[in-house]
Amino acid sequence: MFELVKELSELPGPTGHEDAVQDWAAERWGAFAREVRRTRVDNVLARVGGAGPRLALVAHADELSLVVKSVSDDGFLHLWPYSDSLGRPPRWFMPIGQPALVVASSGHFPGVIATATGHVVGGPKHQKDFEWNDWFVDLGIRSREEVEELGIGPGARVIWNPETRRIGRNITGKAMDDRAALAIATAAGERLAGDDDLPFELWLVSTVQEENGLLGASSLADELRLDVAIALDVGLTGDIPGVDERDFPSRLGGGPMVVYQDAMCHYSRRLSDGLVAVARENDIPVQRAVFQHFGSDGAALIKRGVDSALLTYPTRYTHSPFETVDESDLEHAVALLAAFVKRGPVDREGR
Ligand SMILES: [Zn+2]
Repeated sequence: MFELVKELSELPGPTGHEDAVQDWAAERWGAFAREVRRTRVDNVLARVGGAGPRLALVAHADELSLVVKSVSDDGFLHLWPYSDSLGRPPRWFMPIGQPALVVASSGHFPGVIATATGHVVGGPKHQKDFEWNDWFVDLGIRSREEVEELGIGPGARVIWNPETRRIGRNITGKAMDDRAALAIATAAGERLAGDDDLPFELWLVSTVQEENGLLGASSLADELRLDVAIALDVGLTGDIPGVDERDFPSRLGGGPMVVYQDAMCHYSRRLSDGLVAVARENDIPVQRAVFQHFGSDGAALIKRGVDSALLTYPTRYTHSPFETVDESDLEHAVALLAAFVKRGPVDREGR
C-alpha cells in the first residue's frame, strides 16, 4: 500500500491539469477492468465487473494548487490560488519553502515557493498578514523572456512538491487528498476484478476539479447512470495539539470513517449504516463522523439523484504539504469496501 500511495501522491495533478493522474488511472485500471472510458471533461471511468445496481467508488484526481497569474521582469511567477473561495491567504495555507513544480502544457519545471524573509523585510510590514502577492515562485531564471521561452505564463499551474515518506507509523506527503483514495479504489478494484458473482455492477471513477467545487462529479451523472456511489476522501481528525476533540473525535489508526454529514449534504443514512454494519460484521475497525468544514464529490452526486455515502481515511494536516495518514487505515478501507461490495445492496433499514 505504501508504494502505491507514494507513486500516486507524487504524480502532479493540479486542479484543471490532472492529466498525469488520469493517464495513470486509465492505464492501471485498464489492466483489470472490462472497459475504461474518458469523458469530455476527462473523468476516468472503469467497469470492474459484476451485475446488479450500478455502484461507483469515486475519488478525485486533483490536488491543491496555485496558478500563475503573471511573470515579473526578473522571471518570478506571481500566484493565485486554485479556488476563489479561499479569499485572503488562510492561516493554514502553507506553501512557503516547499519545492515547487510548475505544471505547464509545455512540461514540468522545478522551482521553490518563496517569500521575502528576515533581513530584507523589517519594521511594521513584517507584522502584516500574508497576501497572495507576498508569495512567488523562484525558478532560478533571471528574466521574463527566458520564462516565456519555457512555455510558462499565466494559466500554468504550480504545486508544492515534497516527496512522500514514512515517518514512524505515519505516511506523510502531498496529495494524500485524494490520491490515497485512488490507491484504496485501485486496491479494491484489483481485489474484486474477475469475481463474476459480484451483486453490483462495480465501477471505479476518478474525477477532475473537485477542489474548486465538485465540478467533475457534477457531470458524472450525465455520462453514466449510477444507482449508488461511495465517495472516498480524507477524513478529519482531532488527534493533534490545537484541535478540539469535541469537534473531531476521530484519530489516526482508528479505522476508516463513515461520514454522516458535512457542510454540503447529509449522506445516505442507509448506505452509511450499511457500511458501519459490514465493518462490524467483519471485525474491521470503523469510526463515525460529522465534518463541519468539508465537502465531497458525494454531495454533487446526491444532487443528481445518486444515493451516496462518504467513506474517509483519517488524515492529519489536510490541505497542506504534509498530509499524514496511517497505512492500516487505508488497508482497512480496502477490506471494508471489498466486504461491502461482495455482500450486496443495502435494504431500506441499512441492513
Ligand atoms: Zn479531497
